[in-house]
Amino acid sequence: MTVSETSSRIHLLDQATVNRIAAGEVIERPASVVKELVENAIDADARSVRIELTTDRQGICGIRVSDDGTGMSPDEAPLAFTPHATSKIAGIEDLHTIHSLGFRGEALASIAAVSKVTLVTRHRGAGTGTRMVIEGGEIRERGEMGSPEGTSILVEDLFYNTPARKKFQKGKNTEIAAVHAVIEGICLAHPGISFRLLTDQREQLLTDRSTSMLDTIARIYGSDVAARLIPVRKKLPFMAVSGFVSPPDLSRKDTARMHISVNKRFVSSPPVIAAVKEGYGTLLPRDRFPVAFIDLTIDTHLVDVNVHPAKKQVRLSNEKEITSAVSEAIRSTLLGRNLIPSANAPHPYGGYARPRVDAPGLPVVYEFPDPGPAGVSEPTHTGTVSTDRQLRQTELDSGTRADTWHVPAMEVIGQFGGIYIIAANRFGELFLVDQHAAHERVMYEMVSRGTGTGRLSQELLVPVVFQRTAKESAILRELMPALADGGFEIEEFGRDSFIVRAIPVFLGKIEDMGLIDEMIGDLVGEERIREPDARERVIRVIACRGAVKAGTVCSAEQSQRLLNQLRQTENPFTCPHGRPTMIRFTRDELDRMFRRI
Ligand code: ADP
Ligand code: MG
Repeated sequence: MTVSETSSRIHLLDQATVNRIAAGEVIERPASVVKELVENAIDADARSVRIELTTDRQGICGIRVSDDGTGMSPDEAPLAFTPHATSKIAGIEDLHTIHSLGFRGEALASIAAVSKVTLVTRHRGAGTGTRMVIEGGEIRERGEMGSPEGTSILVEDLFYNTPARKKFQKGKNTEIAAVHAVIEGICLAHPGISFRLLTDQREQLLTDRSTSMLDTIARIYGSDVAARLIPVRKKLPFMAVSGFVSPPDLSRKDTARMHISVNKRFVSSPPVIAAVKEGYGTLLPRDRFPVAFIDLTIDTHLVDVNVHPAKKQVRLSNEKEITSAVSEAIRSTLLGRNLIPSANAPHPYGGYARPRVDAPGLPVVYEFPDPGPAGVSEPTHTGTVSTDRQLRQTELDSGTRADTWHVPAMEVIGQFGGIYIIAANRFGELFLVDQHAAHERVMYEMVSRGTGTGRLSQELLVPVVFQRTAKESAILRELMPALADGGFEIEEFGRDSFIVRAIPVFLGKIEDMGLIDEMIGDLVGEERIREPDARERVIRVIACRGAVKAGTVCSAEQSQRLLNQLRQTENPFTCPHGRPTMIRFTRDELDRMFRRI
């Protein structure tokens, strides 16, 4: 055995391997230095990692990352700063089985090239440590030094020798925020390691070593958020999904709280983000996003980590299978849950419901901020349709009933404002149910599944002819197959003119022919264009137009039938646009409002 073999695990990669490694700028800003140093600490088997930032007026001027990992031997230390020297892979073929975060042996060399680095490291079990100072890539000092086991790397004067030095820092707060984002992502993917972040000696973040990501989430985002999350767990032959997702009412207007890691690597992955959102289906409006922390464990052969210079992305080989497994895992998890928003829960569309105080100290009404996504635009009652007939159409025969009911039986107490059914269950919970949203959900599921009279059509006594603009006609033409599938019989009838011969039974006996024209307007209107696909668009319009309207006075018996139908849906909690169908008040909440407790 040669001396170098015994003393160094770090070696130079051969040229062929170097050529195949995704090249590009690794160090763009202080946060990229932090990311690389922390990843090295994790790869070195650290149990705790400490990150210290110092700032001046311009931005971050010093970064120190210390760990209690394996450390480096005196021979390894200089090699670590040599370009393309790594202990993590031997050649390109190892990239298919990579379990470390680093693999290209470039980070320390890139950092040292543009800053002043001071390294102190002691190899596990070694008697003494090594200290090295490197400036602009040149070793300035090197010697023995007593130190604890592990490694500490201090980076100063970042970009001191790069001409456009300023361009690398976008302002102090932006850079600090970028470091936070990096650390949060890494913490979440590595709950087993304790991380501590200090800025100018003030502690910003501390996570304890834990076996559960939930502890880390609680540390970073607060235990009130963590307490509401729903665990997701699914194992498949080629992958496993685990993590936590929010109930739909804890949603946001952006994807900033959707964290994805693949094999413990925190990544930005638009396809996986989209898959998580997809898992919510109609539980969320299209412009709202859940809070989600998802960790995917995927066979390393299916993950290409060598696609992005800063390793922020990965390429998934079986992307379609992987993303549909993610959606399915989330969908089935959510379906098994009671997702009724309670009066005291955060409002689905942001913020908390706040009691509006009319008389001093007397909470009267719960007021929700903001009208919600795109407001609620829906047809109002015209007095021409029979509620009984509408409800009859959505009555299920026993054969097609969902086998699990997500909501306990409710008894109707009354109706308020021609729209809200008031009901209670035997667990002492009070419900306000939006009758239109509820019936819309029932119809939506029936048309989707093609059960009941969902897709049947009825001929019009007198066919209706209507005219549209060229643009709308083009959209309508694209919708033709989906319309036929949904029970419409429509044909083109001259230039940009159409004839409707039959409509879905669900829509009832339409006496006012203007309604058909209005509905076609719904279908081709801008508002709907963004909906998932043609078929979905048609189904939603049928459900919306066919459902019991707001402003319809329902008898107790009719209301009861509607609630029973709603209970049998797969997702009774929201309408197809993601608005809630019901809001719950527990006895406790009411008692609190009345200051009984
Ligand atoms: P890579 O991580 O891709 O191997 P780096 O330039 O980040 O490349 O690091 C080079 C080598 O230095 C690593 O392969 C590792 O052997 C060693 N090294 C870096 N940081 C540490 C650390 N904190 N503890 C122990 N060894 C380290
Ligand atoms: Mg590295």
